[in-house]
Amino acid sequence: ALVVRHRMQSSGKWARTVAILKELEDTCGTPIGKLKQIADAMTVEMHAGLASEGGSKLKMLISFVDNLPTGDEKGLFYALDLGGTNFRVLRVLLGGKEGRVVKQESKEVSIPQDLMTGTSQELFDFIATALAEFVATEGEGLHVSSGRQRELGFTFSFPVRQTSIASGNLMKWTKGFSIEDAVEKDVVGELTKAMERMGLDMRVSALVNDTIGTLAGGRYHNQDVIAAVILGTGTNAAYVERANAIPKWQGLLPKSGEMASILQIFVINMEWGNFRSSHVPLTEYDLALDAESKNPGEQIFEKVISGMYLGEIVRRVLYRMAEEAAFFGDTIPPKLNIPYILRTPEMSAMHHDTSSDLKVVGNKLKDILEITNTSLKMRKVIVEVCDIVATRGARLSAAGIVGILKKLGRDTVRDGDTQKSVIALDGGLFEHYKKFSGCMESTLKELLGEEVAENIVVELSNDGSGIGASLLAASHSQYLEVEEP
Ligand code: BGC
Ligand code: MG
Repeated sequence: ALVVRHRMQSSGKWARTVAILKELEDTCGTPIGKLKQIADAMTVEMHAGLASEGGSKLKMLISFVDNLPTGDEKGLFYALDLGGTNFRVLRVLLGGKEGRVVKQESKEVSIPQDLMTGTSQELFDFIATALAEFVATEGEGLHVSSGRQRELGFTFSFPVRQTSIASGNLMKWTKGFSIEDAVEKDVVGELTKAMERMGLDMRVSALVNDTIGTLAGGRYHNQDVIAAVILGTGTNAAYVERANAIPKWQGLLPKSGEMASILQIFVINMEWGNFRSSHVPLTEYDLALDAESKNPGEQIFEKVISGMYLGEIVRRVLYRMAEEAAFFGDTIPPKLNIPYILRTPEMSAMHHDTSSDLKVVGNKLKDILEITNTSLKMRKVIVEVCDIVATRGARLSAAGIVGILKKLGRDTVRDGDTQKSVIALDGGLFEHYKKFSGCMESTLKELLGEEVAENIVVELSNDGSGIGASLLAASHSQYLEVEEP
């Protein structure tokens, strides 16, 4: 009798696991109809955000980039890329029309966790120190002409209200950064002060978001690039907009009465991570993750799509299975209770496990969560959880891209239209999580239909944002000769 009872209990536990899995699958569902509603909502919010300041959750920030690289950019420029778990410094030699990127050197530094939540001065001093060390390695063949001040393109991947091409105030932090005293400050001013403290004589010539840098870098290689999307630690998009489609910009015109030229363009940083719509499927795990995050209520689209959060969502699902269905046995594995312990690269490794006994899944569980003795059946459940969470994120990001294409009128084909629309993609999630990027691209086709999809190209623009920032530093250099009118 005892044995029978035990068996019943364990099959009850399994049924509970299956129920939790099923519920997850149902709530994360992104049928095509729902994705179309999300794309439409994205287009609507884009219009609202362009119409007036604060008109939408989409900030639709004007970047002050009104010229994209032409290929004529020339000289040695620096770039600094800050925005995720690492920051990078680059030295780029641009060769002008013929040479393109002649030479490039870079260094990557990981940002200590405590600096992400400390003071502005600590963070910028750390960055300026690394930058100064990098500048000191300027070699024989690759140096700035004497008498010329070094110039820097600063890629700062957080929402910034720009006040010029080379200045702007931080609106809020995202992605685990939270440095109160930097909010509302001019980030170029903060960096410049830190460089001065280090005795580093360098001028910031361009301040750009990573989406803007990626767009500029993509355009340098391919003139058909019209938008850029980041799928990395965070997520965001930028695209090229006509000035006369930006009502809120009219108020910013320098001379009163001046009209926006029909040809004038601006690159818009959408900050789509903050998009929110009742059509976006949210689970209890997402709501709890949001509530316990550093920025509750903010960046909801980002929290269901981007690399910082996907692994954490999976951890929360597994925790509930452990708690309610004794999925890992009678006790909850202690490590499973640690927020963000399961990172998205590890989730990706489990999701891509092709071994018949799901060896990788077993090893990851052991190494990260100290969970041993998992059955194949359990490992399959875990892969399924990864699949559900990644699929939702990938399909939502495809819907976001379709929203942009709709706004630009590029979601339909006119007869004989062969104009390509290229979208430059960057970020570790897109680059390394193949099931994610594959699903994103196939969903794009599904949403657009074969014929339209033929004209839409998604292009990995690896490292575009660093190069892009150096290109924009070049085109906004203080040494450019002023053209005669
Ligand atoms: C930031 C954006 C950035 C994106 C990708 C988001 O959290 O708000 O400014 O472009 O991450 O790095
Ligand atoms: Mg980046």
